[in-house]
Amino acid sequence: MGTHYCNICRQTTFSGKKHIFGKQHQSRLRVVLTKFIEKVKEARRTIKKPQVEKFDCIQHKETFWCYCCEAEVEKNVTDDKMTVLYGGVLEHMAAKEHKKNTHKFWWDNKADMKLKDKVLITEEEIKRFKDEVANVLETFVEEEDDFIKQQAACIRAQEKHRQEVFESLLEVCFPAMQWHVMKNWTCLMEPPALPFYTSICE
Ligand SMILES: [Zn+2]
Ligand SMILES: [Zn+2]
Repeated sequence: MGTHYCNICRQTTFSGKKHIFGKQHQSRLRVVLTKFIEKVKEARRTIKKPQVEKFDCIQHKETFWCYCCEAEVEKNVTDDKMTVLYGGVLEHMAAKEHKKNTHKFWWDNKADMKLKDKVLITEEEIKRFKDEVANVLETFVEEEDDFIKQQAACIRAQEKHRQEVFESLLEVCFPAMQWHVMKNWTCLMEPPALPFYTSICE
């Protein structure tokens, strides 16, 4: 009996196959699988209604650990502009390689057979998901276009308003300012006003 490193218990064991059937391994396996199944369940909920968001470099770069493939997998799918949440999980769980690894993992760890399908996404499911994603992306682009058009209309309206205000300012204030300057100018040139003259005569 050789040594064996158990990824589930994260320790080296010396009891070979016996370890797999042991209480410690089986209870640790249940904990690991419960969490793993929960993640896939969360992802599966978005098949009929995919969640598409604008890319966020912190939140959307998350990964998760696939115990069956012993690999780090991207949780979402993104092109650095848009992100399809759980797209990575669903795609991974639908891949042939993952299916093969899952069968091996279940067999090697003597896991509950009833739970196996919970970490597998069928071909029909992934097809449905991709179709729904395409629909969502289409409406997203349309909404984005509408938003840009609205913004452009808003900027044009603001510009028009600014122009109108400027023109009316020119019409109203500028002649008034000129008149004001002219008046002061005339005052300086003319002799003192009447009250001064009257006071001398008295
Ligand atoms: Zn173990
Ligand atoms: Zn996997």
